[in-house]
Amino acid sequence: MEIIEGVHAIDSLGIGRAYLYAEADRLTLIDTGLAGSADRIFAAIEAAGRKPGDLRQIIITHCHNDHTGSLADIVERTGAQVSAHPLDAPVVRGDAPLLRPNPGGALRLLRPLLARAMQPAPAAAVDRELADGDEVDLGGGAKVLHVPGHTAGSIALHLPQRRLLFAGDAAVNALGLGPPSGPFGMFNADRAQTRESFRKLAELDFDVACFGHGKPLDKDASRAFRRAAEKLG
Ligand SMILES: [Zn+2]
Ligand SMILES: [Zn+2]
Repeated sequence: MEIIEGVHAIDSLGIGRAYLYAEADRLTLIDTGLAGSADRIFAAIEAAGRKPGDLRQIIITHCHNDHTGSLADIVERTGAQVSAHPLDAPVVRGDAPLLRPNPGGALRLLRPLLARAMQPAPAAAVDRELADGDEVDLGGGAKVLHVPGHTAGSIALHLPQRRLLFAGDAAVNALGLGPPSGPFGMFNADRAQTRESFRKLAELDFDVACFGHGKPLDKDASRAFRRAAEKLG
């Protein structure tokens, strides 16, 4: 599905979404879905009228395996350069363990299922580490925002020229817009920090927002973020 010109949401990756960003000279992929999603991603590339070899860069918003699962596979088939935040890069590289989810209340019944879902993704190289304020060559300049809480090294990308935000899982648009909570909140490393990071995103100016989970917002997105941030108190 093309959200705005050149920006494609790739759905049905088990859980969550990846995004393909098409520019004249190359493609960028934001996240990669669960393990086994590579064929769907290559199908999306073909559907956009492009070739897998056009994929030059992959930006990982955070180290959870529903975002990194197919990374190693896609890199092997394209040689694309991989970027992630230094605090999550060790997990992507397979040098540090993934934090286990910690469901409370009735959600603890899901523990066995989650243990399976949270199998570590195949390790992959990270070529470039992205810090807060760094700029990525994407859409006329994408600014990296460090938005910790869901994981220590979660990042979002703000493309002011496109009035576009890629929120990763720092904002979720399922069961309402906000920081990850409910079933998504189980995976948070630091809940208070997720709220702070969401407020940081709500201070930006953008029309379109893309999420790891939930439907993209295609207009008035930063207004919706500000309303949701006010409700956090
Ligand atoms: Zn996540
Ligand atoms: Zn996710």
